Amino acid sequence: MPIESYNPYTDRVLRRFSAFSWSKTERILAQADKAARAWRGTTFAHRAGVLHRAAALLRQRQDELARLMALEMGKPVVDGRAEVQKCAACCDFYADKAEEFLADELIQTDAGRSFISYQPLGVVLAVMPWNFPLWQVVRFAAPALMAGNVGLLKHASNVPQCALALEQVFHDAGLPPAAFRSLLIGSDLVEKLIEDDRVQAVTLTGSEGAGSAVAATSGRHIKKTVLELGGSDPFLVLADADLPLAAKTAAQARMINAGQSCIAAKRFIVEKPVLKEFIRLLKGHLLEMQTGDPLDEATQYGPLARPDLADDLTRQVEDSVAQGAKVELFGGQSQPGSALFRPMILSNVKPGQRAYEEELFGPVALVLEAKDAADALRLANDSRFGLGAAIWTQDLKKGEQLAREIESGAVFVNGLVKSMNELPFGGVKKSGYGRELSYLGIREFVNQKSVWIG
Ligand code: NDP
Repeated sequence: MPIESYNPYTDRVLRRFSAFSWSKTERILAQADKAARAWRGTTFAHRAGVLHRAAALLRQRQDELARLMALEMGKPVVDGRAEVQKCAACCDFYADKAEEFLADELIQTDAGRSFISYQPLGVVLAVMPWNFPLWQVVRFAAPALMAGNVGLLKHASNVPQCALALEQVFHDAGLPPAAFRSLLIGSDLVEKLIEDDRVQAVTLTGSEGAGSAVAATSGRHIKKTVLELGGSDPFLVLADADLPLAAKTAAQARMINAGQSCIAAKRFIVEKPVLKEFIRLLKGHLLEMQTGDPLDEATQYGPLARPDLADDLTRQVEDSVAQGAKVELFGGQSQPGSALFRPMILSNVKPGQRAYEEELFGPVALVLEAKDAADALRLANDSRFGLGAAIWTQDLKKGEQLAREIESGAVFVNGLVKSMNELPFGGVKKSGYGRELSYLGIREFVNQKSVWIG
């Protein structure tokens, strides 16, 4: 893919970048490796100072960063500002908490004293996607830098300006420049980077294909990976749920980032007695949502990030309808090649249909009928993915019990699935492995060293 800033709303190329050559990339890697040796020797207080300044700069620059996301991948500016604020809060969180999360842990053994010490690994490569161009990166970078690692970012090829703007924030905050660099490279150089001994570990957020390719290379070279991949999150609505609130939240949950979120609710599994009413309410909420120019303050959802993504989604929908799915709400692309995709609802979604088996990364809500709560659970777990899940019921005991039985990395009862600094984030099954955020996230890229003193 060319490294190109392209506005999906106006269908115009904004800027083209020449990809870094291997020799330039290798030079940056050498500098990062050197920086890692110095950065690991800094105190938590020093690193916290840098991260707090980065948080302040993010807040100061929120308008320009939100504008950049709107231009490069179609995120409405209102959501863009919220994303920047979330990034700032994450920097503050790890600046405040890293020392506590990585403090030596005393363990009773036959030693005079024994403990676990958490030490940085060195250069961590981050391969990141375009859907939350700042958040996905900060969620990796804040804990990694606070742990004493340095980061090399290979961002998605359609958001180079976001990648460079974030690099600038860290540099302006006082981070040694070589400790965080955006590599403007295509995915072809990723393998070469992973093969290099100076790269110690890799984190990837994106599709299964990209995750599998990066993990395969990392496996060959015995390198730790964290993978945060796709999801087809179930949203269970039991007959006793607060239906108006569930339907309103369902619309929000499906439409996060125009549906392009790994934890967007994608499969609405509804008990039969409330199915018709749920579809009616959901349809109403989806139709109310305003689309338009992502730069406009009133816009609630923008175009998809690239026209090819909208074309792919149309094919998934058309194939599913040919396989028996029923269209409850007509929407989609106005014409092939357009990035704008209006919300749709499909029902009668059954095993074997593309919509049942695959992730739909855009504003298409799938409604599945469940006979009862047990059937809803069965349907929820009948998926290759396991990232997030939501359960709507007034019976909190039942909600908690179902939450324990759902195969996913997170379950929210009567709430919208979201990522939070305090709770770990990640998946099971084909949604990936490893965790980001919380104290577990910062412990992914450290040497968990046992020290035994006789
Ligand atoms: P990709 O997974 O292809 O892109 C994510 C990142 O991985 C980008 O930086 C990309 O680089 C890189 N990449 C892709 N292939 C490789 C490879 N073989 N080796 C190394 N790096 C690689 O996402 P797409 O943009 O193609 O989106 C397609 C689908 O991926 C979506 O429809 C959705 O299902 C899923 N997705 C999931 C996301 C999530 O949050 N879990 C986020 C984005 C997408 P480059 O841009 O240069 O190709």
